[in-house]
Order: sequence, then structure tokens, then C-alpha cells
Amino acid sequence: MKLLLTSLTLLLLAGCASGPRIDRSHSSVNQDGRVQFVVLHYTNASQDQSLDLLTKGEVSSHYLIGSEPATIFQLVDENRRAWHAGESEWQGRTWLNSSSIGIEIVNKGYDDTPNGRLWYPYSEAQYQSLAALLKDIIKRNNIEPRNIIGHSDIAPLRKLDPGPLFPWKRLAQEGIGIWPNDQAVARQKMRFDFNPPSAAWYQQQLARFGYAIAQTGEFDVTTHHVIAAFQMHFRPERFDGQPDAQTAAILQVLNGMR
Ligand SMILES: [Zn+2]
Repeated sequence: MKLLLTSLTLLLLAGCASGPRIDRSHSSVNQDGRVQFVVLHYTNASQDQSLDLLTKGEVSSHYLIGSEPATIFQLVDENRRAWHAGESEWQGRTWLNSSSIGIEIVNKGYDDTPNGRLWYPYSEAQYQSLAALLKDIIKRNNIEPRNIIGHSDIAPLRKLDPGPLFPWKRLAQEGIGIWPNDQAVARQKMRFDFNPPSAAWYQQQLARFGYAIAQTGEFDVTTHHVIAAFQMHFRPERFDGQPDAQTAAILQVLNGMR
């Protein structure tokens, strides 16, 4: 009996050490990557403060781009969840921490001055680091251009980062993210100048592009916030949340780019 127990124990131990036997000779075609989105942020803090907050505070991101030099720090493995998005939604997906890679950039955001709100620019070195990092992430994870987004796109009621000085257009010129064609926008704008679209139209088109927005048919507070987030990304010269022909034209052109 004792001998039997000993061999059983040995057998169990052997089982534990090697794990279950798994046959991996069949692989399903029906799968995709965990990472569907890349979310861009500014840290609203200095580099030291940012590193401290993102490694020891209550938030984190996969990457942090420093200030001088623009070092790319990896703080969380891409296969694991980082806590950067919070309550968020894009294209019907909610709580995007599970399905995104978060990139924070050291930048102080803005200062409110007697002359209005002044936004801090990103440096050329930060741009270069960011572009190289994004190209690599997009290629490895096969991310759609319209899914390269800002924190303000996925949480337009509570977030402003990465702000109006974030280089969306320049990145798009390098093949990163989505940007509308200027001539196509000018053509659509003429149409909307004569025929301004309704609140229901904006709500439908913004939802189609990816924004979380209730279809109320009214220009309510939420709709103005979402329009402002859209303008900050695609028409940063003016992002007052007021609907206008150029905003409508940009939205129309972007939704035609499928
Ligand atoms: Zn953020």
C-alpha cells in the first residue's frame, strides 16, 4: 500500500511539473489580436512625476515617451492590460483598457492665462519617437487607421488629451491614422454651406465613425462635447463644439473612407 501511495504521489508530481498534454496541431482561422486600438495621451506632468505616477500610482500605460531626450519607456507588456483609458467607448467597444495599447507622452497639457488657454507643444524628438513606436505597434498588431485615437475621442465628456497640438495630420501623412483629403472636404463643404445638417445627422455620423453619442435628435450638451472632441482631432484651429459646414464636411469624407 505504501509503495502504491508513493508511486501515485510521484505520478501526480510528474503531472504537475509538465502540465496537461495539449495537441496544438489544429489552429482556427477565426481569431484576431487582443489589441484593436491605440490610445494617445499627454501626462499633464513632468517626466519624473509621470514615471512615478505610471509605475506606482493608480494608473499605468504600456509606453511613456519622455521629454528630453524623448526616450520610449515600456512600463507594461503589450500582452497585459494597462490602466490608461478608464470609462471609455469607441465603435461600440467599452472600457478600452482590455483592447488597447496606451501611449502617454510627457507634456504639461495647458495653462489658463489672462490671454486664454495656452497649450504646450510636443517636441520634434517626441514626434520622431512616437512615429517610430506607432509604426511598429500598428504593423505588429494590424491596427486599422481609424482606431488610432486620443483619450478625448473615447471619453469626450471628461478628457482633453492629447490636445489640439497633437500632430494627427503629420502622422497621417506618414501613413499613421486617418485624415481626410482637403479637396474632398472643400467639395462637401460647399454642399453643407447651403444645407446645414441636423443634430440627428451629426449624431448618426459621429456614432458611425466611432464616438459614443446618444441619438437624441437635439444639439444637447453631450453632442457639443463630442463635436468639440471631433474638431480637436480633425479641425484643431477651432474646437468650440459648434456644428459648422467644415466640420460636417470632414465627418462626411472620413465616413466615406472605408
Ligand atoms: Zn489620458
